[in-house]
Amino acid sequence: MEWTWMDADRRPSTSIGGLGMRQLKMEMAKQGIVEDPHRFTIVPDLCPMVKKGTALYSILHFKCPYCREGEFFLAHPYNLRRAGDLHERCPKCNGRYTIEPGFYYGAMYVSYALGVAIAVAVWVAFLVLAPDAAPHWIVGTVGAVILLASPYLYALSRIIWANMFLAGRGPGGLPPKEEE
Ligand SMILES: [Zn+2]
Repeated sequence: MEWTWMDADRRPSTSIGGLGMRQLKMEMAKQGIVEDPHRFTIVPDLCPMVKKGTALYSILHFKCPYCREGEFFLAHPYNLRRAGDLHERCPKCNGRYTIEPGFYYGAMYVSYALGVAIAVAVWVAFLVLAPDAAPHWIVGTVGAVILLASPYLYALSRIIWANMFLAGRGPGGLPPKEEE
């Protein structure tokens, strides 16, 4: 599994297994788990096979929907104070992320769909792994998973929405000249 740090400037201060995050990164680099210890994240790259430059790459790596290279968010999704805060423009291609006020309200529908998908996945997992589980366990687990995943889902819904409606607008979306 490949790990990528989405925001190299914001390093988590937590420690895992007694190792500080810094030591942990170095250790993982030494063992070849990560290539570059300075680009490391607590969110794993879900699919290292996804090709750079595709919409799926942009979504999974939280990259600009236009050029799929620049960062999309200001901070890690679990940095709750800044969760979901976007750059105004892509640091690489200068494409505008919010093309009109309230553009990201629609991401709510995406987030709802993701929530339903998770609920179904958890329910199916129960059917397979613990068919005798009482309903309150299933409901409780669905609730807990969605609660824990919600910062990630919130970020995911925004980047998916951006890919649905911005990606087709050509390089940079609205050209920077147009707005002044
Ligand atoms: Zn870009």
